[in-house]
Amino acid sequence: MEELISRAAADLARSKYAVALTGAGMSTESGIPDFRGPNGVWTKDPSAERRAYLAYDKYLSNPSAYWEERLSTPSVLGNLGDYLPNPGHYALAQMESFGVLKTVITQNVDNLHQTSGSQHVLDYHGNAFKLRCPACLSRYTLDDYDLAELRQARHLPPLCNNCGGPLKPDTVHFGEPIPPDVAEHSLEEAGLCDVMLVCGTSAVVYPFAELPRLARLRAKVVIIEVNAEPTPLTIEGISSYIIKGKTGEILPRICEQVERIKKG
Ligand code: NAD
Repeated sequence: MEELISRAAADLARSKYAVALTGAGMSTESGIPDFRGPNGVWTKDPSAERRAYLAYDKYLSNPSAYWEERLSTPSVLGNLGDYLPNPGHYALAQMESFGVLKTVITQNVDNLHQTSGSQHVLDYHGNAFKLRCPACLSRYTLDDYDLAELRQARHLPPLCNNCGGPLKPDTVHFGEPIPPDVAEHSLEEAGLCDVMLVCGTSAVVYPFAELPRLARLRAKVVIIEVNAEPTPLTIEGISSYIIKGKTGEILPRICEQVERIKKG
């Protein structure tokens, strides 16, 4: 393990354009459950996964009923405003501040990378603290709309201030296309990087899981996984190596060594 941590630090320190990809495992140490890990929401309750697959069709067919149900049902992830970043998030933010990490592309919707100080974050699956207009891609914060009042006045769904279209939460549902602006930018980052640090993701959700596969097409790219268990990226030889363990413990150790190398 120690050897792999040093290898990752050396790979990152000598990189010209390193990016991180992150998933739900990144935030379990903040108390937010993942979906498919041993204590994941869906591992424990497979019916929650089936319900999740219905959400996007509901939004498309009846935005008003979709919003009514959304506002009356507690989130399976709890109140995301209650959670704080963990040492793994801070380590990525610090590596960005050293100029080593250029971008974090996250599947997480919890905003914890931004809270921990990362400046360049692409919310691949959206952000739970925002609303989005699928038609014109305008984003709004939750403060921009009083959803409780709209519900009471029977004025759901909230409408886009720019084009008048029905808004949805920014979070991307199963079956919903990734917002094209984010999808395009993420593809660019995957095409630019020489080191990709893949943290806390089972790498089974597409098209996100395509990003390391695209990077792999360039033989010189180093793909480092930090995950509690092997993933398809490990098994299929997409990643160069895996450091098995907790992101909240391993990433700070990598970061410490990157800082030491950078300071000479
Ligand atoms: P996943 O649940 O499919 O996989 C998580 C992976 O991380 C598993 O392999 C697990 O073993 C590993 N893991 C768990 N804790 C870890 C830790 N502390 N250190 C290292 N590895 C750890 O998650 P996914 O691949 O991100 O896909 C799930 C989808 O659900 C994503 O699209 C995401 O948008 C969404 N989601 C988001 C959140 C969040 O915002 N925090 C939480 C749950 C699910």
